Amino acid sequence: MSLAHDLPPAKTIVPRHDWTRAQVKSLFELPFPELVFRAAQMHRQFFDPTEVQISTLLSIKTGGCPEDCAYCPQSAKFDTGVDAGKLIDVDTVLAEARAAKAGGATRFCMGAAWRSPKDRDLDKVCAMVEGVKALGMETCVTLGMLTGDQAQKLKDSGLDYYNHNLDTSPEFYGEIITTRCYQDRLDTLEHVRDAGINVCCGGIVGMGEGVDDRVGLIATLASLPVHPESVPINMLVQVEGTPLAGSLKLDPLDFVRTIAVARITMPASMVRLSAGREEMSEETQALCFLAGANSIFYGPKLLTTANPARDRDMALLDKLGMRPAE
Ligand code: SF4
Repeated sequence: MSLAHDLPPAKTIVPRHDWTRAQVKSLFELPFPELVFRAAQMHRQFFDPTEVQISTLLSIKTGGCPEDCAYCPQSAKFDTGVDAGKLIDVDTVLAEARAAKAGGATRFCMGAAWRSPKDRDLDKVCAMVEGVKALGMETCVTLGMLTGDQAQKLKDSGLDYYNHNLDTSPEFYGEIITTRCYQDRLDTLEHVRDAGINVCCGGIVGMGEGVDDRVGLIATLASLPVHPESVPINMLVQVEGTPLAGSLKLDPLDFVRTIAVARITMPASMVRLSAGREEMSEETQALCFLAGANSIFYGPKLLTTANPARDRDMALLDKLGMRPAE
């Protein structure tokens, strides 16, 4: 049953791009029920709250990455047991995309563990994008830093979304990654925007950051000239061998708060409940949906870490009276 007929007739709220940190912080400081209520109200202005967009993520080139992101098992700098692979072939990608479509996914995301793509690899990725598009799915890739020309090439192949996360606040960024800087991320986002590709950009929480860093992340995202169309909010998955293994775990309610503030400040964006669901209770996930999350990654693996099995996800949506968006 769709609740579309129960929604307000017009979108009376225009997304703002002038969020100050103080304003974002005051949202984080709201009493929890008030914050979630406001987020749920905002969600209904733009979306059917019973619908969840489903994306599937495939690693097309795993491990051996020269970057040193402290959360990532694919960095060559950490001993995590993830072997470096080569870029997989187009036919394998298309077979995975067909299976994802049959399982209900509408968007197929492909991730490569690179600092930035080489031009000859980019040609192969463009062929993947063309093939997945031809199956009638939306396409998203995450390949690291891009030049303007590379972004244009991806656009010409029909790419719908480019994922490039800001990860955390500008202040905390240097604690997590030293091989590139925040401005590098912003530059790639600008190239992607200029090429006319939709932006998928969010962050990771539970990395030992403080609430001010979660404020800084959301304020930065919400002040971009155009909000990312997709905002993935990830809960750190601690992987043995990475510097962040053994970090203090974030209270799940603080995760829900981050989702709620993302929903309020970027009301027209898809807010994706991304990594970390495998360890999240059904109750926490339900609270995230209530707080405005309306997208999930679906399928048993997220690049190299575990994700809930498809049946478990469908059973949860069913239990909550929710359904995959078409
Ligand atoms: S997050 Fe991406 S860029 Fe960073 S180490 Fe992992 S694969 Fe490389």
